[in-house]
Amino acid sequence: MTLRIHRPNVVVGLPDAVLFDIDNTLYSYEPAHQAGITAVRSKTERLFDITADEFDLAFKKARSDVNGRLGKTASSHSRLLYFQSMLETIGLGSQVLLALDFEQTYWRTFLSHAVLFDDVKELLDDLRIAGIPTAIVTDLTAQIQFRKLVYFGLDRYFDYCVTSEEAGADKPDPAPFRLALQKITPKGSGIWMIGDHPTKDIRGAREHLGAVTLQKLHRGVNVGKEGEAPDCTFTAFADVRHLLTTLQAGVRRVANY
Ligand SMILES: [Mg+2]
Repeated sequence: MTLRIHRPNVVVGLPDAVLFDIDNTLYSYEPAHQAGITAVRSKTERLFDITADEFDLAFKKARSDVNGRLGKTASSHSRLLYFQSMLETIGLGSQVLLALDFEQTYWRTFLSHAVLFDDVKELLDDLRIAGIPTAIVTDLTAQIQFRKLVYFGLDRYFDYCVTSEEAGADKPDPAPFRLALQKITPKGSGIWMIGDHPTKDIRGAREHLGAVTLQKLHRGVNVGKEGEAPDCTFTAFADVRHLLTTLQAGVRRVANY
């Protein structure tokens, strides 16, 4: 068992709705990203007289330029804009056809290396059976986030989906959280947020929704501290299923495992 309840007085009953992050919460982001970027790097090395280091520097600069210009918006994460800017940085102009090609290569490779964590579907089944509505609250553009959900076979598992493109701002802005709540119209105020990011998911959902926060931990994820400290941490979704079962059975006080 890997679930730890840090604030037992907060985790006292079944939720009225559960919100989920996608990236690095439902699957491990880093291996998928590394595979995607490696595929584009190899392509760039084949096409141009460019070393791996030059590619990495140009990509890093492009990403930082786009992030700096667009701030906390969905398009600040756009791989299409990163690759366009990277090609410009290398001195090749905008190269729109190539930017599109790199974007496709990146996401195709990314998805083929993204592995859904165990028991995500089973947990969503449990929630559906218990009549508890669910929604995705995720940063980035709708096109790729919808593709990820379809790729994982999760498109029919969630009642609603909110992206930062649709909401107009990335988490922890209140906009995506409020939009999710507006779509779900839950029966009560007991909202759970399951995510990996201390600032975006934990602080965001607590500040804007008063949510009970569950942080998914795995390699590379640090537990939030102080105002970003989660109410619960877990490493396996099976343990969230167990927590629900326990709460459903009316057990008010759940000991730490
Ligand atoms: Mg995340």
